[in-house]
Amino acid sequence: MTQEKGTVSVRTENIFPIIRKWLYSDHDIFLRELVSNAADALSKMRRLVSLGEAEVPEGTAWRIDVVEDKEKGTLSFTDNGIGMTADEVRKYINEIAFSGAVDFVEKYKDASAEGAGIIGHFGLGFYSSFMVSDRVRIDTRSYRPGEEAVRWESESGTEYELSASDRAERGTTVTLFLSEEGKALLEPGKARAVIEKYCAFMPYPIHLDGAEEPINDTSPLWLKNPKDCTDEEYRAFYRKAFSDYRDPLFWIHLNMDYPFSLKGILYFPPLDNVYETLEGRIKLYYNQVFVADNIKEVIPEFLFLLKGCLDCPDLPLNVSRSFLQNDGYVQKLSTHIVRKVSDRLTGLFENSRAEYEGFWPDIGPFVKYGCLREEKFYDRMKDAIVYKQVDGTYATLDAYLEANGEKAPEKAWYTVDAAKQASYVRIFQGKGIGVLVLDHELDNPFMSFIEYKHGKVRFQRIDSELSGEAASPETEERLRTLFRAASGDAKLDVQVRSLGVDGLPAMLSESEQSRRMQEMRKRFEDQRRRTGAKAKKDAAAAEGDAEDQAAEDLFGSEKFDELFPLDRTLVVNHDSALVKRLEMLAELPSLAEQANEVAMHLYDLARLGHGSLGAQEMHAFLERSVRLLEKAADAVRQEG
Ligand code: ADP
Repeated sequence: MTQEKGTVSVRTENIFPIIRKWLYSDHDIFLRELVSNAADALSKMRRLVSLGEAEVPEGTAWRIDVVEDKEKGTLSFTDNGIGMTADEVRKYINEIAFSGAVDFVEKYKDASAEGAGIIGHFGLGFYSSFMVSDRVRIDTRSYRPGEEAVRWESESGTEYELSASDRAERGTTVTLFLSEEGKALLEPGKARAVIEKYCAFMPYPIHLDGAEEPINDTSPLWLKNPKDCTDEEYRAFYRKAFSDYRDPLFWIHLNMDYPFSLKGILYFPPLDNVYETLEGRIKLYYNQVFVADNIKEVIPEFLFLLKGCLDCPDLPLNVSRSFLQNDGYVQKLSTHIVRKVSDRLTGLFENSRAEYEGFWPDIGPFVKYGCLREEKFYDRMKDAIVYKQVDGTYATLDAYLEANGEKAPEKAWYTVDAAKQASYVRIFQGKGIGVLVLDHELDNPFMSFIEYKHGKVRFQRIDSELSGEAASPETEERLRTLFRAASGDAKLDVQVRSLGVDGLPAMLSESEQSRRMQEMRKRFEDQRRRTGAKAKKDAAAAEGDAEDQAAEDLFGSEKFDELFPLDRTLVVNHDSALVKRLEMLAELPSLAEQANEVAMHLYDLARLGHGSLGAQEMHAFLERSVRLLEKAADAVRQEG
């Protein structure tokens, strides 16, 4: 053919600087676009063959080859698909593909401001290759017998040259002459990593640099009928897809065609510290082509604590994220997934209770987070929420209340650390009241949520109320004076109660409400430190986010400590023999100093058992312990 030059469109504006700038963070997606085009060309050819409209030699292996050439600075993509005639190149590349790219840019010019207006920039197409190239060349030969091979070449993306190509076989090769920036792709391992990210499950084998072993898995497990999948296959797929050496706990295979098509596998992973890295855990695919892994607009955010692959070929991906959020289809999809997840969990709860409880340490945080984030999820899960008790057994809240209701109606007693609060646990065990272990950082908001939902129950930490018969007013007055003098704290709240002979001589109790407020403020401050105070404040003000602003006003207030003071009480155990002796000491003015020292020591022991003894106080406590032991040793020697 004679050489031909042209401009792809009457529009002369150059769209590539826009695309380049805009897709800066995501420019590897051109690779997905080119490999998808190659896969489409293969599918079309295969279809023609199956329809009897074209012929290929027996045993033809459909394949895509990606070849790096560091010397020439090129990266090429070859397929043995349908190919294009010169006319088709004019039509598909110069007109359709170009105008497609222009439309795309036009449509999302404004989204570029936020940088990520469209999920995975899906559908940008062939022209995205100019993001990384100084020049792009296509060599192609149509499957139609008698057609010449053609070469299309362009530097700017807008002006092209069409000429004869020496390509002998059917199919297409796209060669990118990489720009200085684009050459980073030729660093060892880089191209491979990008292919693995975007093309890991494409339906045709992708060979890198002529290797016979394909990079991808052409038939991912989610496409298989769940009936035909073995547990070992599910586990192996998980380990490979998420580069996790551990095994998942269990999984859900989504496989539906009607009323919409959705395939995928969601895994419940063993618990890890995920709060910082939620991206990359739920991967979205479109007919086996990777789209994105930060798809909060498609599924509720709490599901990001799981790991999985979702293939949703019905999802309208060439629309903006904000559109997706309000799309009816997306909402149905999301509801369906949430239902499948809760069904799986409640099914386990009902049918394999022991197994379910075994999983609870791992799945509990997910369930709690999900309940806090999504009302519908809570409604489905509410009867299957279990609580661990200090004796190692699990109980639902209803079962717990039923078992302990007589002794403490509508109260759910808990500890955050059974070892540290052992002295309190013993008191409860002595009374035969069960103690729950609520030691996750989500438990604090979760308890408030359950209290609100339940209406009646109150969660109380075991150190929040030490009940027992009160001593006489005189005794109480005497000991209060003594402990206030010894501690130097004239406002120390002191109560004298019968805590039983099992209890320590003195223990601290701390009001549930004031402690929770303090904890909430701490969490608020931690979060503010993490996200950056200013950004948070600006965002809250800008969005008019009433809740955030209210939190800011409350916890940021200088009056907070005044409004919500620490509400601690020293409860002195009147059943303790040591306390009785202390009372006797206190009656003898000549032994006032000794009485003070013992009282102070008991106060420190109470703080130690409560976990609120500061560093300085600890030091004083240790020194005093030595002194007291010396005295005890002297006393023993004198006796002996
Ligand atoms: P899209 O793939 O979304 O249609 P593209 O810009 O990626 O948009 O490509 C435009 C058209 O160019 C394709 O629809 C196809 O007809 C043609 N094309 C692109 N790559 C190939 C290829 N490797 N083999 C055959 N035809 C191709």
